[in-house]
Amino acid sequence: MTCRTGLLPEDCAADHWCAALGGERTADGNGQWRANCPYPGCGAERALEWDMPGKSVRWKTFCGYHDKEALRPVLAERLKGCLPRRRSDRTPIDHDDLIALALSGAPPMTMKLAMLQMGGMRTAEAFDKLGVRRENRARVIAGRTGGASKRIQNRRSQEGLIHLTGSATLIPPGGIL
Ligand SMILES: [Zn+2]
Ligand SMILES: [Zn+2]
Repeated sequence: MTCRTGLLPEDCAADHWCAALGGERTADGNGQWRANCPYPGCGAERALEWDMPGKSVRWKTFCGYHDKEALRPVLAERLKGCLPRRRSDRTPIDHDDLIALALSGAPPMTMKLAMLQMGGMRTAEAFDKLGVRRENRARVIAGRTGGASKRIQNRRSQEGLIHLTGSATLIPPGGIL
């Protein structure tokens, strides 16, 4: 469900998409809509097609000049929140990973970073959101922030043992190293 005003996908496809793109139902009655290519200055006739086979609108392009990668930002701009996210933008969160993270004893900032990464953010983006300065990032990744003891800080050779993503095997500072 990705409509900005919470319309059912079918209604979003018919109302929002058609209004934004000048779409029309295809004549053969198979539940599809067509519009001219929305790429600025293109307008290839009836080159954009969409339908609603499941829970969200599916679309493809027949324009000879503009593939999906080229059209995605154009559609995102025109549709203002009614464009479904690419499925690959977000991988499902593994419940066991989430539980392991919560119980890991990682410092708060390290835990927040791991949560944002699980949510699909890239590491640099997550750090920006968290306001972590560059010089501190390696320590956050290594789980050595906030009151880490001298003993821990001296053990620089251990850096890199903590993996934040994937199996979420987080080892707390001073833990089972
Ligand atoms: Zn909509
Ligand atoms: Zn085009």
